[in-house]
Amino acid sequence: MPPPGSSPPRRGPDLAHDIYVSQAEATDSTIIPLRITVHRTCPACATRTDEKAARACTTCKGEGRIIHEQHTHKVRIPAGIRQSQKLRIRELGGPGEHGGAPGDMYATVHVDD
Ligand SMILES: [Zn+2]
Repeated sequence: MPPPGSSPPRRGPDLAHDIYVSQAEATDSTIIPLRITVHRTCPACATRTDEKAARACTTCKGEGRIIHEQHTHKVRIPAGIRQSQKLRIRELGGPGEHGGAPGDMYATVHVDD
């Protein structure tokens, strides 16, 4: 039982991503690096209420968020994958909250001709 007032674990959000492979890679199965960027709210903007000041923020360049971390994952593309096929990559989505599991990544494959 979680203590009263604490939040239950929540699964992270699923993310969508695009993967670009060549015809040869799609035919033969390959491992490609997939770079995932995780953003978080800009700490300098979080306390600002003036929108104009937020747009002039030098920390996030007005985007309101900054790069929190970047990872590169190696993703195996199954042999014979087709254009627009979706790969589900387990637990590569957004992080869970309060100890919840991460979401999944749904990667759409684009095959170059
Ligand atoms: Zn900012």
